Amino acid sequence: MRLFSCDACGNTVHFDNGTCVACTRRLGYVSNPSRMTALEPWGAGWTSPAMGESFAFCANADVAACNWLLPAAQAGQLCPACRHNRTIPALNDDKTTEAFRRVVSAERHLFYSLLAWGLPIPDKAEDAEAGLAFDFLADEIGQNGGAVPVMTGHAEGVITLAIAESDDAAREARRVGLGEPYRTLLGHFRHEIGHYYWDRLVRDGGRLEEFRALFGDERQDYAEALERNYRSGPPAGWQNRFVSSYAACHPWEDFAETFAHYIHMVDALETAHNLGLVVSPQGASAGRLDLDVDFSPYRQQDFSALANAWTPLTIAINEINRSLGQLDFYPFILSEEILSKLEFVHTLIKAKGQQQRAEKPGS
Ligand SMILES: [Zn+2]
Ligand SMILES: [Zn+2]
Ligand SMILES: [Zn+2]
Repeated sequence: MRLFSCDACGNTVHFDNGTCVACTRRLGYVSNPSRMTALEPWGAGWTSPAMGESFAFCANADVAACNWLLPAAQAGQLCPACRHNRTIPALNDDKTTEAFRRVVSAERHLFYSLLAWGLPIPDKAEDAEAGLAFDFLADEIGQNGGAVPVMTGHAEGVITLAIAESDDAAREARRVGLGEPYRTLLGHFRHEIGHYYWDRLVRDGGRLEEFRALFGDERQDYAEALERNYRSGPPAGWQNRFVSSYAACHPWEDFAETFAHYIHMVDALETAHNLGLVVSPQGASAGRLDLDVDFSPYRQQDFSALANAWTPLTIAINEINRSLGQLDFYPFILSEEILSKLEFVHTLIKAKGQQQRAEKPGS
């Protein structure tokens, strides 16, 4: 994620900011081309003096604190992220509203990446079959009075996400219960969208043979694979072949986990690139841990440039986290086999982005 600046006063601002703390102007995010802009009231909407354009906020601005802008002519509509929300929880209380806001904040972060690559993001109105939709659901109270948890997952372009995952205590309890080293709201979005793009880019994209050579045959029984994983855990030595123990349970889950890691990698490298972060540890052999992200990670065609920068970055930030007594920010190790899978995801995303740009220039 890049840093932004207030185009009225030059102050550094962040992707989710709604106001500039330096000049107090209202801020909005323009998704194409990606920028933040400072706004002045104009008629029933807003205008950006720096851009010389008038805008309306996404219809979710009030309820979900969405800061994305639309052209003034689209007032009352939803932004490119929120328009995928098919079901939202009943926002009857502050706790649910806060949970929903956290969820859609992570959702916008996901869309930032998808838009940066130019991946197709049709909603169900545009494409009933291949369109993408989100159901954000609160746990329900069952007949015995206990909570019936919502299962996060993907089916036929619909991503279901349990808004309980936005509750730090609940999510951390699940993380510890499942023995996971990492569990975040954003990570859920990046995993589930991996399932969505498996359908689009692998199955419908004619890449099944390549996929099976790397990840295995996805025609093996999925329910039985999950059951086996639940019963006996991952196979011995899974660390050399899979990015996480959960990835070991089925080729679909391996792909979704790998897809999520690819987004982690590119987005965190973009942050390092934007900060001008340079790492050159004393005593490290032959610059093996040197880092200088002197390229734009979302535009990088060469996978090895991303992979070579990723290890020094994760080691550096893990060290800083440890010095503060925090968990490792990236508690994973990437073997050659895992890197090959990540490179496959890289080639899928690059090819699709290029195809989209050729078909719809300027999008
Ligand atoms: Zn400002
Ligand atoms: Zn929105
Ligand atoms: Zn999954």
